[in-house]
Amino acid sequence: PSLTNSRSTTGTVQTEPINCLHFINGQFAESLNKKTFENINPATEEVLGTVAEGGKEEVDLAVAAAKRALDGPWKKMTLAERSKILRRIGDLILERQDELAYLESYDTGKPVSLAKKIDIPRAAYNFHFFADYIMSINNEAQQQDDQAIHYSYRRPVGVVGIIKPWNLPLLLLTWKLAPCLGMGNTAVIKPAEWTPMTATVLMEICKEAGVPDGVVNLVHGFGPNSAGGAISEHPDVDAISFIGEPGTGSAIMKSAADSLKKLSFELGGKNPNIIFADADLDEVIETTIRSSFINQGEVCLCGSRIYVERPAYEKFLEKFTKETQKLQVGHPFESETNVGALVSKEHYDRVNSYVDIARADGATILTGGSRPDHLEKGYFLEPTIITGLDRNSRCVREEIFGPVVTVMPFDTEEEVIAQANDTHYGLSATIWTNELRRAHRVSHQLEAGIIWVNTWFLRDLRTPFGGMKHSGIGRTGGMHSLDFYSELSNITIKL
Ligand code: NAD
Repeated sequence: PSLTNSRSTTGTVQTEPINCLHFINGQFAESLNKKTFENINPATEEVLGTVAEGGKEEVDLAVAAAKRALDGPWKKMTLAERSKILRRIGDLILERQDELAYLESYDTGKPVSLAKKIDIPRAAYNFHFFADYIMSINNEAQQQDDQAIHYSYRRPVGVVGIIKPWNLPLLLLTWKLAPCLGMGNTAVIKPAEWTPMTATVLMEICKEAGVPDGVVNLVHGFGPNSAGGAISEHPDVDAISFIGEPGTGSAIMKSAADSLKKLSFELGGKNPNIIFADADLDEVIETTIRSSFINQGEVCLCGSRIYVERPAYEKFLEKFTKETQKLQVGHPFESETNVGALVSKEHYDRVNSYVDIARADGATILTGGSRPDHLEKGYFLEPTIITGLDRNSRCVREEIFGPVVTVMPFDTEEEVIAQANDTHYGLSATIWTNELRRAHRVSHQLEAGIIWVNTWFLRDLRTPFGGMKHSGIGRTGGMHSLDFYSELSNITIKL
């Protein structure tokens, strides 16, 4: 039987529970002790179904299968054969895009329109992109006159543990899994406990696309003392690709230290959105609405600290507040919904606690800050704009990861650069200005891995993506991804 009965869940009404199982060595499986946990729909607070709860035993089985599969038919496949499989996975994601979009929306609370527009097409594109990209690899070769030639040889790293967050579940999983498989590795995946469904369906898709048994494995569960912890400690896991909070990254690094695993970390952000007075305000507002509130503000790249040059400050606030108030908070399946539910009760309470902190710090809540009147159930919060905080407030310093932004005025370039960099985070930044030299000057001084000028979230998957400081270790994208998922040997031949 299919692991999920998700194929029947393409409509807007859930008629039966959707249960998620592990996927180990090409088979869906319950936990050995049959343990499960409930998956809650954040928009209705109802139970969507159960999820198998894995731990050390299930991870041991999955890692053993992944290790065996490194020497199976997968090893004999050519790059072109693997590329074909990646392409097929991308095609199958597109074939099932409606179903996947609804499942993503059930799990996360995000508007299904957003999942259809961004999450699922991008998940397919991640596979299509790497299907092409792996065929373009050029390994180095050097010649030393008639003395010797040197060339590099690339091989898989081995078994890769992929540990995921809940905000863009399928998009982020595919961003890691596609290059991981492209380079010939095998994988043990641990989806976030709050969003298990699309990862589970992806296992069906991988099997159908011809991925040999044992090459991809998935174990559901929690973090410490559960599936996540077991993967990061496992001596036969050679590398960990992790996306999540800096504190979790630190815990994973400690448990991975004994076996010296290769690590790739994409962590949190508290990203500055810097608006100079010469920028085109209409363009700024249109993009800033998205960079503040898309996906309920639950995107690591959201520009949650907005700095506006003083001459434009009042005008910005007026227009930004007016446009924010037009956003429709509502059930994720309704077509006019712009902002859905936050992912869980725990996260909803956490985000609300920051609004309380702002109030206690004497801030002004220009708009939002509470549950919309028309929504009695579900973890809904109005998009919230906060002013009147100083740079030491926790709302300005800590990642809130919800539909909450702070806005502050600034007077000089030096001042705003200092404020923007006054954080442990260093993921992304946005600068709005029409002055060319200022755009370059400020970009070079901002401590962030991804800097956008007069735009936001515009990506080319060949470019380096990742954070500095506590926002990450390493870069992904194009060759950066392939470098992480492969080991290079240099071979010197004396002539
Ligand atoms: P999280 O760190 O709480 O959890 C992420 C995953 O790690 C989950 O699957 C969880 O079960 C697992 N985990 C937790 N503790 C663990 C442990 N000790 N050992 C092994 N695994 C463990 O993060 P989250 O709340 O799911 O996601 C939100 C965070 O992710 C935010 O900080 C956000 O900015 C960040 N994020 C970063 C990027 C990026 O590209 N830089 C993208 C998306 C999200």
